[in-house]
Amino acid sequence: MFLRFIGLIVILYGLQACDHSSNNKKSHLGEFELISHLSLLDQNMPAIQPGDWLAQHPETGQTLPEYIYIRPVSPNDSQRVIYLQPIGNFNADQDSIVKATAGYLQLFFRLKTCILPPVSDSLIPSASRRTREDGSEQLHTKYILDSILQPAIPADAIVVMAVTAKDLYPKDSWNYVFGEAYTKKRTGVSSLHRYYEDGLNNALCLKRFIKTSSHEISHMFSLLHCTNAICSMNGTNNLKEADSKPNRLCSVCLSKLYWNLEFNNIQRLSDLKDFFKAHGLESDYQLADQDLKCLTKKLRP
Ligand SMILES: [Zn+2]
Ligand SMILES: [Zn+2]
Repeated sequence: MFLRFIGLIVILYGLQACDHSSNNKKSHLGEFELISHLSLLDQNMPAIQPGDWLAQHPETGQTLPEYIYIRPVSPNDSQRVIYLQPIGNFNADQDSIVKATAGYLQLFFRLKTCILPPVSDSLIPSASRRTREDGSEQLHTKYILDSILQPAIPADAIVVMAVTAKDLYPKDSWNYVFGEAYTKKRTGVSSLHRYYEDGLNNALCLKRFIKTSSHEISHMFSLLHCTNAICSMNGTNNLKEADSKPNRLCSVCLSKLYWNLEFNNIQRLSDLKDFFKAHGLESDYQLADQDLKCLTKKLRP
C-alpha cells in the first residue's frame, strides 16, 4: 500500500509537471500504474566498483517528474520517423546487423525506423579522425553529430542516429566511446567496432548493438542515464560493464518512454519477446517474458 501511495504521488506530480510541457500529453493513469508493477522485477544496482561508469561519473539519475519538466524531445504529427545514417563501409555481417537493429528499434520505440543511403566516411576531415597504435582508425563523434547529421536532418525525422563500423572518440583525452547522443538536438551516433572483440559472433554483436542503439536513441528522447536499477539506460564505461546490462528498461525508464511515446505496453513487450526469440537472445527473451507475464497478470480481473 505504501509503495502504491508513493507511486500515486509520482503520477500526480507528473501530471502537474505535465502542465509545463508544450506538448499536450494525455497521461494514462492506468498504464502508469500497470508499469509501476514492473518495479517488482527491477534489480538493484550492484555496488560501484573502481572503473565503473558511476565511479568516474557520479550521476544521480532522473525521475519521471524531472523528465517531464525538461520538456523532452517528442514526436509530433509531422516529425515521427527514426532514421539511421550509415557512415563508411560495412561488411555483409555488419550490414545485416544494422538492418536487424532498425527492425528492433521500430519495435522498441513504436515509431517507423528507416535506413538512409550510406555516406562515405571521407566526409570526415583528418582533424576529426585519428589512428590508434593497433592501426585502427577512430572517428570524432562531434564532427559526425554537428557537421554531417545536423545540417541534413530529414523533414519528417524526429531523431537521426549515425551508425559506423569504425571506432569513435568524443574528446582527445578519451580512449573511445560505444556511442554518443544529444538529449535535445535529435542526433546521435553508435559504433559496431568494439562488439567483435570476442571473435565473430553475430548474435552477441546484435545483442550489444541493439542495446547501444536503443540507449543512444533514448538519450535523443531526452532520457538521462538511469541509477534506479539495472537497466539498458545505465551508463557503462567498458565492454564488461556494458555486457552486464540487459536489453530491458527498468520501470522508471519505461514510464518515461511511455509518457513520451504513448505505446501499447503489452504489444511492445510481446513484439520484443518475439524479436529476442527469433535472434537467439535468450536472456533478453526471458526478461521480456517476465515483464509481459507480470503485466498481463495484473490486467486479469
Ligand atoms: Zn549514455
Ligand atoms: Zn532505468
